[in-house]
Formats: sequence, structure tokens, C-alpha cells
Amino acid sequence: MSTVFFQNGGPSLRVGKILCLGRNYAEHAKEMNAGVPENPVVFLKPPTAIIHSGESVILPAFSHDVHHEVEMVVVIGKGGKNIPRSAALDHVAGYAVGLDMTLRDVQSDAKKKGLPWTLAKGFDTSAPVSEVVKNVADPHSLPLSLKINGELRQEGNTRSMIFSVDAIIAYLSNVFTLEEGDLIFTGTPKGVGAVARGDILEAALGSLAHLRVRIA
Ligand code: MG
Repeated sequence: MSTVFFQNGGPSLRVGKILCLGRNYAEHAKEMNAGVPENPVVFLKPPTAIIHSGESVILPAFSHDVHHEVEMVVVIGKGGKNIPRSAALDHVAGYAVGLDMTLRDVQSDAKKKGLPWTLAKGFDTSAPVSEVVKNVADPHSLPLSLKINGELRQEGNTRSMIFSVDAIIAYLSNVFTLEEGDLIFTGTPKGVGAVARGDILEAALGSLAHLRVRIA
């Protein structure tokens, strides 16, 4: 069973679905040689992909190009279906920083063949997530950063998201019933790149949330 923990204690939440957005930052779409999507690009990771700060991302043997994508993660606190944008933020329990670890070679091959991204995105340890912060005043003005071995590799701000948190929740809840404990990875800013065994990855959502994992 996978769980997320809240900063300053409180009961943990059992993780349900992990819904992820692709290409939610224009600069990242550009670096992937892809257009800006008209509707959110959505994929799923299984709850078994979750790891926490202090744990290790285990590189699968079937990939030779594993990338980091630092992202803000929305944690659903109250479920719903067809949630209107105006009520969407009432369904949020809090926010975290996460890494959408991606097997870029496996994903590129799947894209070429028109196959799903599931193997590239959902492998064990592909979803490191920090503790969850409650009472975030404005989720649309938070700096996101990723350092590898102390060196800054990704830097962005959630204000550059193409689809805002309320728009994402409204869109997703028309398709999927959202439940308490579901997570939404909201896409990565530019600067994605490869990781290597032994690297230390440190992700931050402003001064609110921090995540530190090792590549093994
Ligand atoms: Mg991503």
C-alpha cells in the first residue's frame, strides 16, 4: 500500500490513482519538439510507483536513458465527479513536489510506434513525492527547482503552467471520478535531462516542500 504523508504530522493518505499531465509548460513542449496541446495530455502511474524522500530510484535494466522531470503534485482530499472550476480547489488536500521519472528511450520508442507510455512512466520508483503541504495560498506562483549533486538543472514557476490546477481538476473529473488520495502530477518546466547511478536529486517547491532521492 502506498501512502503520502503530511508535513507537521496528521494522518497519512492512501494513494489512489496517479494522474499525470504531459507538456503543461510551453518551454518543455518546445524542448521535446512537441506543440502546445489544446487539451491536457494525460497518462497514469500506478500507486506502486511512489517512493518518499530519503529513498532510491531504481533504474530499470531495460532503459539506458532515464530522465528527471520536477513537478508540482496536487493531492486530492475530497472526491468528486464533474467538478466545476469554481469549486475545484475545495477538493485539494495539499501540494507536494514530485519527480516524474521517465524512461526517455522507452517513451520515444513507444511514441514512434503509437504505443502507450505506461512502461516508460509507471515503473517501480518512478514517482518520488515529498511530504504534502496544506493551506497553500496560491498554487500558481510557486518556484519549482531540481538540483543534481548540488547543481541546478531545472528551474521554473507554476505560474507558467498552461492548464491551471482548477482547470486540470475540472477536466480530469469529467473523465475520472476523483477520490481522496488521488495525486495529480502537473507537468514539468524545461530542463529535463538524464540521471546516473549515484546521483543525488533534490527537488523543491519554493520553500514549502523538499524531496531528496538517490539514483540506484
Ligand atoms: Mg512529466
